[in-house]
Amino acid sequence: MTQQSSASPQAMGVIQRHANSDITFNTSHDGLAGKITVTLTPGQLEVFWSDPAAAFASVYGNTRGDCLAWQAAGYMAQCAELTTKGRQCRNPVHGGYPVATPDRWVAMRGKYSLIHQEGVSK
Ligand SMILES: [Zn+2]
Repeated sequence: MTQQSSASPQAMGVIQRHANSDITFNTSHDGLAGKITVTLTPGQLEVFWSDPAAAFASVYGNTRGDCLAWQAAGYMAQCAELTTKGRQCRNPVHGGYPVATPDRWVAMRGKYSLIHQEGVSK
């Protein structure tokens, strides 16, 4: 039980009683096409009360920062190559838009757009 939890003692009691059962909790977060429903374990629900982003991160096995970065990037995994002007290529990686979940987004980090793919794979 964390001290920072903002859930009422009553709610925490219910969660605690169900912590070892098969009962799960559903919630949703913003995704590209609206809300994405995820299932939280009792432990994740506990985190959720004080820090929803951290709970979602736990669901996907990502860090909190990665989840927020995924949303901030507009659900696009950006090409890691630099343009001839030395800026990061603004195209999505191959299959990198839209990226449905943050774990997939993290997996695409450092990959390249179709334009840059061939030159780099040599
Ligand atoms: Zn590129």
